[in-house]
Amino acid sequence: MSKNTKRSYQWISFDKDKCISCNKCVDYCPRDVLRLEEDGIPFMKYKDDCWYCDVCSYICPKGAVKLEEVPYLIK
Ligand code: SF4
Ligand code: SF4
Repeated sequence: MSKNTKRSYQWISFDKDKCISCNKCVDYCPRDVLRLEEDGIPFMKYKDDCWYCDVCSYICPKGAVKLEEVPYLIK
């Protein structure tokens, strides 16, 4: 499990204007990938563990989560 910073490439994006910092995406991620940053916006802290399962975007009540380009490793 490697730690990532907010500035490293992330294939899941979070819309700061829509996010209400409810933590649901963090709680429901089956791989425990996400954490809230100090500003209350999620980021992929352990992105190497992501399964690209789409649970985070499904569970978000505000439609703030978007899965971007599929990582090359699972294309
Ligand atoms: S796609 Fe799945 S594994 Fe990846 S961050 Fe979202 S909920 Fe977690
Ligand atoms: S579930 Fe959506 S609104 Fe809640 S913290 Fe995650 S991105 Fe923000």
